[in-house]
Amino acid sequence: MNHAPESPTPDPETLCSRRDALLSQIQNATPAGVRTPAVLLAVSKTQEADRVRALAACGQRRFGENYVQEALAKQALLADLDLEWHLIGPLQSNKARLAAEHFDWVQSLDRMKLVDALARHRPADRPPLNVLIQVNIDDEESKSGCLPTDVVALADAIAGQSRLRLRGLMAIPAPHPDARDRVRAFEALQRLQAELAARHPGVDTLSMGMSGDFELAIAHGATLVRVGTALFGARERREA
Ligand SMILES: *Cc1c(COP(=O)(O)O)cnc(C)c1O
Repeated sequence: MNHAPESPTPDPETLCSRRDALLSQIQNATPAGVRTPAVLLAVSKTQEADRVRALAACGQRRFGENYVQEALAKQALLADLDLEWHLIGPLQSNKARLAAEHFDWVQSLDRMKLVDALARHRPADRPPLNVLIQVNIDDEESKSGCLPTDVVALADAIAGQSRLRLRGLMAIPAPHPDARDRVRAFEALQRLQAELAARHPGVDTLSMGMSGDFELAIAHGATLVRVGTALFGARERREA
C-alpha cells in the first residue's frame, strides 16, 4: 500500500465533521414516507487503518473494501473494534473462501459459481453471509455485474443456500453526463429491486449511489450508499 503524502490526510475532527455532514445530507434526501434513512457505508479502499480507526471513533461502524487482501490486512489491525465489513469490489473465485470467512457482506456476487463457493466456505460459527447481487445496469463498459435478466436465477440459487442470506441488489451505474440517463439507471434498479423483493420477501437492501450521486440514488430508493471521496478526500491512484 502506498503511503500518501502528508497533504490530503484529513485529521480525525475533519473526518467526523464530514461524516456528520453526510448523515444530514442523507437525512434530507430521504423521501417523505421512508422511515429509515439510507445506511452510510464508508468506502475505505486505499485508506490506512488509522483513518478507519479515526472514523470508527466518531461512530462509523460499516466499511466497504474492494480488495480482499488489503481488507484482511486492515481487519487484522482493527480486530479490537466491532466493525461490519462489506466487500464491494469484483470477487475472483479463488478469493471466495477468504471473502466468506472475513466479511459480513459480499455486495459483488455476479455469477453462479460464487453462490456455491461462498456458501461452502461460510464458517459454521458465523451468521449466514449477507449477499447482494451486483447488476450491470448500463451494460457496456464495466465487466462486473450480471445482466438484469440473470437476477432471478441467481437470487433463487442464493435463497436455496442456508449459509447465505439474500439481501438485495448493488450497482455502479455509469457516470452519465446527462442527469436524465443517471435517473433512468436508478429507476431501472428500483424496479428490479421491487420485483426481487416481491419474489424474496427478505430482500431489504438496494446499494447504489456514491460520493457524486448519493442524494439522487436515495431519491430513487437506495437504502445503502457507498461513500469514499466525500469522507476521506480524493484517493491516490493505485490501481494496477
Ligand atoms: C470506490 C467505490 C465507491 C466509492 O466511490 P467515491 O466516489 O469515492 O465515493 C463506491 N462503490 C464502489 C463499488 C467503489 O469501488
